[in-house]
Amino acid sequence: MALRSLLPGPPGGYPECRSCDWVALCGSGSPGHTHAEYGDVNHRDLFCESRQYWFERYVERQLSAVDTGPAGPRG
Ligand code: SF4
Repeated sequence: MALRSLLPGPPGGYPECRSCDWVALCGSGSPGHTHAEYGDVNHRDLFCESRQYWFERYVERQLSAVDTGPAGPRG
């Protein structure tokens, strides 16, 4: 049984996550981080802003690679 199935609400059920562009990738964050910080899992992920930052950088990097080809030495 997946841990997520034991938690209240479906992924994306938290109010802040419902309209987030990254919810399909993020899954509303880490229950472990949230529980460690708040003592329950009824809060947005502690590292939400960092997750959004890195998701955006990842997509930008991937789009850049499509435009310019793979980075690194060419032989
Ligand atoms: S990035 Fe933040 S707001 Fe978006 S789904 Fe993850 S925890 Fe929720």
